Amino acid sequence: MGYDAIIVGAGLGGLASGVALAAKGKKVLVLERMDFIGGRCSSKRVDGWTMDIGCHFLFGCEHGSFGDAARRIGREIKFFHPTDYRLKVRDSMLEFDWESIVVTRPGSDTVTINTGEAYHGMMDHVPRPLISLARLMMTPLLPRLGKIASPIINRMDNITMKEMLDRYMTWPAVRDFGEFFQLAGFCTPSWLTAYSELMRTGLGFVGYYKPGKMKPAELMGYPIGGLQAIPDTFAEGILERGGEIRTGSNVKKVIIEGGKAAGVELESGEVIKSNVVISNGGIKETVRDLVGEDQFDRNYAEKIEKLVPGISGFTLRAQMDSKISDLELGFNIPVPDCEEYFHELWDRRIIGDYAPPVMLSSPSNMDPGTCPPGKQIILAVGSSMLHTDDDHNKIEKYAIESVDGIIPGFKDHIERCDLMTPKTYAAFGEDDAPVIGIAQSIGQVGKNRPSSVSPLKGLFFVGGEAGRGISGVACDMATNSGLACGDYILKKL
Ligand SMILES: Cc1cc2nc3c(=O)[nH]c(=O)nc-3n(C[C@H](O)[C@H](O)[C@H](O)COP(=O)(O)OP(=O)(O)OC[C@H]3O[C@@H](n4cnc5c(N)ncnc54)[C@H](O)[C@@H]3O)c2cc1C
Repeated sequence: MGYDAIIVGAGLGGLASGVALAAKGKKVLVLERMDFIGGRCSSKRVDGWTMDIGCHFLFGCEHGSFGDAARRIGREIKFFHPTDYRLKVRDSMLEFDWESIVVTRPGSDTVTINTGEAYHGMMDHVPRPLISLARLMMTPLLPRLGKIASPIINRMDNITMKEMLDRYMTWPAVRDFGEFFQLAGFCTPSWLTAYSELMRTGLGFVGYYKPGKMKPAELMGYPIGGLQAIPDTFAEGILERGGEIRTGSNVKKVIIEGGKAAGVELESGEVIKSNVVISNGGIKETVRDLVGEDQFDRNYAEKIEKLVPGISGFTLRAQMDSKISDLELGFNIPVPDCEEYFHELWDRRIIGDYAPPVMLSSPSNMDPGTCPPGKQIILAVGSSMLHTDDDHNKIEKYAIESVDGIIPGFKDHIERCDLMTPKTYAAFGEDDAPVIGIAQSIGQVGKNRPSSVSPLKGLFFVGGEAGRGISGVACDMATNSGLACGDYILKKL
């Protein structure tokens, strides 16, 4: 049976390209080397526990690329949208929701700023017809903002986030939060992140936002059913439309005939033909290992080989003996100097002798169905690099200390805990096991981001490292890359 397209890899990028094609009646074959789908956005379900792999917390949600992809196949993915956030920078604790901000500093009183009251009080003085008029004017304008602003944003491609943080975030605790928050979103340290990506991502979210129809909190969330709900939904849509998905199928080679894609060869030796091959297996790895650099113009092959991957990460996944915290999403930054910490990590590949900065979440507080009754899951993600001087036990010890610093008593209630490091994530095949492909470094964003369209006819790239002009936060960006590539193929071929 012939396939309109073969997709190498069932990560979000690959599956989203499959969704775009299958939704328009194309027959696709997805080949995944692992025995599960979803790549770095997946979950393992064992004994009533749904433990996520890689990713934790999503942006855009039903209003962004995940909702877009699901609607194309007549499906829906439901999200929990947290409203309570907890941030601790060294000794200062900040808790906020959409109504109030509570700041607790050691040796001083707790200060509560009631933002909800202030907002409603202010709005009570604005005549209702004026609010309706503002909404009416904003609604058609919002999706166009990106286009209007893009020439200005393009000029910021060579300004780093560090320059902006140094200029505008001078209070050390806020500076440290800025450093870690931008790294959590863009997966590069601030001296490498292109400032323009903050603007593009922000405008992307403004584009998702429907004033009057939703709350801003709905732009962030956790999928009901765990992370696996997203790849599973995409896969169901592909299968329903006659597509095929084969796990345990490692693609060894992309076959090129006469300068055009002609199919793939699996590790087992099986050859499958198609004149469209979409690779979710990493752009560098596809050009170098699956196709062979000799098939490309030398300049192109060199340019791709020089792409710099983003930072890598670790995930501490704890199954708790009881529910010990109401935390939904939090950050703990215990290190004395966050930028210095990331320099040690990025430049010298050294994990310091500190409890590291971590982003925490409790999936079971957002979806109680992810763990057995009365128990709790707590996840913490931090930064790491492949080939650091660290050892597994050292990261685990310090990561537990970091979580305990924001959820006191954490370490006394762990029933089972495991750690995934860059070595674990390397199994998905990308050099240096980055959190998100080539991420958002200066020189690799906007019009300099590698195109999904390769110089070889019929060969395409999707995921965290491809798609000219594609931006956003990690999973949302990978999904957008896949959808845009699928749409391009439908239009051009
Ligand atoms: C620790 C960590 C924390 C993260 N936290 C978040 C977060 O909170 N929010 C967020 O939005 N994102 C987060 N991310 C990032 C997010 O998970 C990724 O950006 C996203 O899942 C990448 O999707 P992808 O399609 O580009 O690649 P992948 O998910 O890597 O998919 C590629 C797939 O291709 C397969 N493959 C590769 N080569 C072959 C081959 N030759 N043959 C067959 N199959 C092949 C791989 O096995 C894999 O399944 C995190 C990632 C990590 C590692």
